[in-house]
Amino acid sequence: MKEFKIKFRGVRGSHPVSTSNKLKYGGNTACVELCANGHKIILDAGTGIIELGNDLVKSHISSGTSTLDRQPIEAIVLFSHSHMDHIQGLPFFKPTYINSTKMHLFGARTNGKDFQQFVSDSIFKLMFPVSLEEVAADIKISNLKETRAIILNPDSGEPEIIRFNSEEEIKAQENAVVITCIKSQTHPKEGVNVFKIKCNNKIIIYATDTESYMGGDIKLINFSRGADLLIHDAQYTMEDYISHVNPKQGFGHSTSEMAIEVAKHANASQLVLFHVDPSYDDGFIEKLEEKAKGFFNNSLFAYENLEIDLMQVKCKS
Ligand SMILES: [Zn+2]
Ligand SMILES: [Zn+2]
Repeated sequence: MKEFKIKFRGVRGSHPVSTSNKLKYGGNTACVELCANGHKIILDAGTGIIELGNDLVKSHISSGTSTLDRQPIEAIVLFSHSHMDHIQGLPFFKPTYINSTKMHLFGARTNGKDFQQFVSDSIFKLMFPVSLEEVAADIKISNLKETRAIILNPDSGEPEIIRFNSEEEIKAQENAVVITCIKSQTHPKEGVNVFKIKCNNKIIIYATDTESYMGGDIKLINFSRGADLLIHDAQYTMEDYISHVNPKQGFGHSTSEMAIEVAKHANASQLVLFHVDPSYDDGFIEKLEEKAKGFFNNSLFAYENLEIDLMQVKCKS
């Protein structure tokens, strides 16, 4: 069965929040769940991944009566970068502590270290009482860069990694999922990976923690061209971005206006504004959303548990 669904598990930028006036949009940090032709793909491991893990464990337990006959949890986790709000949920992701779980983690080299070393040293060893060697799951960790594509084939949980120079060279089976990325240097200090996930001729772009330019980020616009769904950083209002008191320019984040500019130039069908500032409450985001719709009708601010079925969204005419 052809399937391409997305569920937002954490949408907040910088740090989690829990005050009651921020819970409509949600307080967990970045995590997005994709179900693509039987594959589970997770974008970032902010605190939103914790509840996702709890849900996966519940389905795992109800899939059989004993450890041996339960359906194993398999997931691909893609890290945009290694800032705290994108990694802090990983040690609390419960499937990690189940023997039958298989996970593949992909991220960029960080602080001169391979991503494997970064996860082992900086997420587990230094910050958590359990080391990576002690966790029960089978976890493979790889570096990912612009010239590598991840192919998820229909009958295999094992991702295939291929090298390529241009996207046209990538050959994949009809029902395969193809994941590529570009490196954006607009986020301090080591940049950020922007992901493209292609499945059933639909395209999702995940562009968190990017700061656009006047006229739009051309590299990002070209990469996002024709996207069915563009998820774009929209952390700040323009007032906060250019504030005389505490300007946010150079912090590596965009405004809704910048995100809309990318969506329009890329001819994206739908825009989800993401990674909203933790100081903005629900009423304030509602107003920003209303304003954004005035400039790009098919846009909304991401909220926790928002689900979109890409196979139900009509193609552009
Ligand atoms: Zn972030
Ligand atoms: Zn960041």
